[in-house]
Amino acid sequence: MTKAVVVDRGALDREMAEAAAHAGAEFRLKTAVCDVRQSTVITRGINGHEEFAFRILIAADGPRSTVARRYGFSRAKVYLSGIQADIPAEGDPHLVELYPNASPEFFGWKIPSGNGRARVGLSGQTQVPERFAALLKQTGATSFVHLVTGTLPLGVMPRTYGHRTLFVGDAAGFAKPTTGGGVYTGIRSARHAADVAIACCEHNTFDDAALAEYERRWQADIGRELALGFRLFSMRQKMSSASIDGFVQALNNPAMIAAIVQYGDMDRPGTLARQLLKNPRMLRWMTPVLGAAIRSLF
Ligand SMILES: Cc1cc2nc3c(=O)[nH]c(=O)nc-3n(C[C@H](O)[C@H](O)[C@H](O)COP(=O)(O)OP(=O)(O)OC[C@H]3O[C@@H](n4cnc5c(N)ncnc54)[C@H](O)[C@@H]3O)c2cc1C
Repeated sequence: MTKAVVVDRGALDREMAEAAAHAGAEFRLKTAVCDVRQSTVITRGINGHEEFAFRILIAADGPRSTVARRYGFSRAKVYLSGIQADIPAEGDPHLVELYPNASPEFFGWKIPSGNGRARVGLSGQTQVPERFAALLKQTGATSFVHLVTGTLPLGVMPRTYGHRTLFVGDAAGFAKPTTGGGVYTGIRSARHAADVAIACCEHNTFDDAALAEYERRWQADIGRELALGFRLFSMRQKMSSASIDGFVQALNNPAMIAAIVQYGDMDRPGTLARQLLKNPRMLRWMTPVLGAAIRSLF
């Protein structure tokens, strides 16, 4: 179990939409970008076919990003399927439960969502519905509502800018490879993209040299954390259920728990990972795991 701040995603989205509207943004509901040609986006929707000229485009069109596919850009390294539902649950509203063995490529979770409910879900590459049914059983859930499914892109695309465009959020693969959480990193990327877009418009320069400033900024902010997260994700792929259990055992110690309480941060898990790796208990656990990982290369 780990402590976490649980954000109401619906409320966050509504607040962001209101702030954008106050700042002058226009919304086109039930409308999708279907093509990009030079400095024009082409949309299809309830208003039929429309064309919008742009000076700079911020592509925030999620894991399947039409814009990235139209440009033929290389995408995130790994795509996982995610599934989640609300179940009735009582308990500490700040305690998140993790189920590492619920999905061998990733993990399962149970997050309190208030009003006597918890959000139960997992991500993986195969057998996701079957694993989810088993997880529901494990958590004791007899009913659920609000079933959602989606895609988690892990590993940022090799280049997050080009053709007068900046890619943010899941469109660029900014979800954290350690947790699959993409709201915090998506918003960080969007903030850097907004700053760089403003600078480009003020200087009237939209070439790749100007856009590259975006990549420099997000790299300086969250690049190290995401790269470390992807290394931990790759290591996780090589861990058996037994080594996961060993990992949990290694954590079950006062010094480790103190480190988790002091450094645990779902948005910056690298800080905690670095602290844990300094502890001799963790090094003892890692020796056979690393050995198995190295042997699997040959
Ligand atoms: C089951 C599950 C649980 C998750 N839980 C968490 C969590 O607890 N915490 C967390 O931080 N993250 C979580 N995530 C990840 C998080 O949902 C994403 O990282 C985040 O939503 C990414 O935001 P985004 O705006 O970049 O993309 P999205 O939320 O995918 O938004 C993209 C938007 O673009 C629109 N769009 C797509 N194509 C087009 C087009 N052609 N034209 C116009 N619009 C288009 C879509 O309709 C959508 O509105 C979860 C993901 C899944 C699948």
